[in-house]
Amino acid sequence: MTASPLIALMGGTFDPVHIGHLRAALEAAQALNATVRLMPSQVPPHRPQPLASAAQRLRMLEIAITGRPELQIDARELQRIGPSFSVDTLIALRAEVGDKRPLALIVGADAFAGLPSWSRWLQLFDLAHIVVLTRPGAATAADWPEALHAQTDVRRCTDAAELQTVASGKVFALAVTPLAISATAVRECFGRGEVPHWLVPSEVLAYIEREGLYRW
Ligand code: ATP
Repeated sequence: MTASPLIALMGGTFDPVHIGHLRAALEAAQALNATVRLMPSQVPPHRPQPLASAAQRLRMLEIAITGRPELQIDARELQRIGPSFSVDTLIALRAEVGDKRPLALIVGADAFAGLPSWSRWLQLFDLAHIVVLTRPGAATAADWPEALHAQTDVRRCTDAAELQTVASGKVFALAVTPLAISATAVRECFGRGEVPHWLVPSEVLAYIEREGLYRW
């Protein structure tokens, strides 16, 4: 892989990280020719809280990406007090890297369909590209709100190399290996007293067992 100026961020709760996240992030790194930074988020108090602590979610990510240099971790949202809006995280990152550096926010198709409900969502396009990962069961374009169609229609790009040529503003759809896995299903599996072998990396499962997480 050649050195790339593009910085790609994939936010999430990662409660726990699973192979749906990891395979998608790896394929995104390859397709975008970029390092992908996995960015665990704090969860707002009014939303269901993760079962694992912030430190545990971070540790599971560290264990999961060991030996994969194209994946990194960005823990900035955990270091702040209280949850952060993606737009504020990108403003902070943009201030660090300057106006010219291409940035991309990677989201699953389920998250992208809800983008218009995110704080100051239109400003996201001024700050970064959006890369939309296919995800089994996620809303399709037919279900998107009109405002999202309007933005996507004028921003769509079909060549990943274009994301390297401008700093922000494009929407790129990336078809990744369809893996119908969610952290919810993984937690439910533990809840039934089963172990989600091969849905979560075995080293992460070993950590979950050691920590007594998810009622192992
Ligand atoms: P939960 O079931 O707890 O809501 P989740 O499995 O959706 O969790 P998150 O940590 O919320 O995982 O997801 C982080 C990001 O990864 C989101 O943008 C989400 O759309 C994407 N993502 C998660 N699982 C997959 C998958 N199997 N395929 C593609 N994208 C995924």
